[in-house]
Amino acid sequence: MKSKTIVIGSGISGLAASAYLGQYSDVLVVEKNKSIGGRARQMEDSGFKFDMGPSWYWMPDIFEKFFLDFGYSSHQFYELIRLNPSFQIIFEDDVLVVPDNKKDIILLFEKYEKGSGDKLVDYLNDTKHLYDVAVNKMLYKPYVSAKDYLSKDVLDWKLISSLFLNVSYSIRKRFKNPKLIQLLEFPVIFLGATASQIPSLYGLMNYAALELGTWYPLGGMYEIIKAIQSVAEKQGVEIQTATEVHQIVVKNNKAIGVETNKGFYMADVVLSSADYAFTETKLLDSSYANYNTEYWNKRTFAPSALIFYLGVNKKISRLLHHNLFFDSDFEKHIQTVYQSYEWPNNPLFYLCVPSKTDNSIAPPGTENLFILIPVAIGLEDNTNIHHQIFNNVLSRIEKFTGENIRDSIVIKHTYSVSNFIEDYNSFKGNAYGLANTLFQTATFKPKMINQKIKNLFYTGQLTVPGPGVPPSLISAKLSSQLIYNYLKQKNYERVV
Ligand SMILES: Cc1cc2nc3c(=O)[nH]c(=O)nc-3n(C[C@H](O)[C@H](O)[C@H](O)COP(=O)(O)OP(=O)(O)OC[C@H]3O[C@@H](n4cnc5c(N)ncnc54)[C@H](O)[C@@H]3O)c2cc1C
Repeated sequence: MKSKTIVIGSGISGLAASAYLGQYSDVLVVEKNKSIGGRARQMEDSGFKFDMGPSWYWMPDIFEKFFLDFGYSSHQFYELIRLNPSFQIIFEDDVLVVPDNKKDIILLFEKYEKGSGDKLVDYLNDTKHLYDVAVNKMLYKPYVSAKDYLSKDVLDWKLISSLFLNVSYSIRKRFKNPKLIQLLEFPVIFLGATASQIPSLYGLMNYAALELGTWYPLGGMYEIIKAIQSVAEKQGVEIQTATEVHQIVVKNNKAIGVETNKGFYMADVVLSSADYAFTETKLLDSSYANYNTEYWNKRTFAPSALIFYLGVNKKISRLLHHNLFFDSDFEKHIQTVYQSYEWPNNPLFYLCVPSKTDNSIAPPGTENLFILIPVAIGLEDNTNIHHQIFNNVLSRIEKFTGENIRDSIVIKHTYSVSNFIEDYNSFKGNAYGLANTLFQTATFKPKMINQKIKNLFYTGQLTVPGPGVPPSLISAKLSSQLIYNYLKQKNYERVV
């Protein structure tokens, strides 16, 4: 008996999972949007190619592991460049430019705090250990049974103790200079909460950022999507866009297929990579859901984002590929994101200028700008407020660069909370899933298997291991392994 698997959603996790599944099942990926890639889609306008979501290529080893599973290397699909400098942080009175190598980073630390070079070496040794243990023993586990977290592998005392301290503590006990502290606390922003809320285990992000480096695939981050698509199609996977799932159809506690705007598609297995909360509250009858709305309301979500995609009709000096504007009050901004749930006035923001590295994503003599401002989930979008924030951040970019930019803007697109909801069915407009707080890590993440429907599975940033492109690739592999086990148990063909 041949098996048919339906994958809902073509983001990183759905696409990558489809590639694995294509090795032993007939797979159809159904995607509601017109193009594939989910949050990692690309938008083109007048010669500008904007990566709509991810822009930091960190943990290249995880990408290589994915490609290697199919006998490939990333170089067969795209050219990776290591950025130097890696990024810069703009403070009110200073700019901290982070080099691409440890020797120079140590010198940079010494410049700001005498004796901090040795402490950095010590910290990077610790975080390398955490990275190695996490990547080799912890992250590639689905946490569906007790043996996943009780196994000897994970019983590493440094790892266990790192769960009970926070990133902020492990940094502040070593470093005193506020700028160095901000530099080291910034990478965990990717995990959806502040450094004081995230277990120090995730200090491994600093090892990733400072030692493994910041990379960029020429052509833009969308090259990753194209590569995964190519791998999936080589396994015989079919991908259908503009196909929106309205319901996961269940009969006798078994998912028998999906109802879509284009009709019913039969399946032996359904894997949802769409937002987990949406899948359970909107596509399934509530009696089958693992978690209810109250559960989701109590979770700590990563922020949403207000994003501006700009095409600028001239070159702008002083900007690098990655620029972090930490020239305003961090605490005030963070409070609006996690406590008061309001729009910020003078927020920290991130500015990506990939045209500094890549000529192919903007017309000659122009710049491609992506401005990202973390904002609270669930906010009501308001064009006046978007405009005020836009003026605020643009003035700060102009002040830093010493150039008039607003008169050279030829393309402007705004993307915000309601777009995340509309485009991705994202719960309250979250940009990248659940925050990796202690009680939302590993075994505490929403489970990959539906407890009542044994042929319904989940993957993506809301389940293990968490938010980000590399974790989504890992999530894809884990969910496909669980499906493999299910198909094997049921004696389907092509499963050995
Ligand atoms: C602005 C932004 C910046 C980021 N920056 C980085 C970064 O620099 N580096 C990094 O590593 N990570 C970054 N991330 C996080 C990373 O992009 C995500 O964690 C990852 O792309 C999530 O992939 P996914 O497959 O889990 O989800 P998604 O990409 O959301 O994919 C889910 C798919 O399901 C589809 N779908 C939903 N409902 C239905 C339905 N009913 N029927 C059919 N299809 C449906 C959606 O359209 C979507 O295509 C960023 C995210 C954002 C939003």
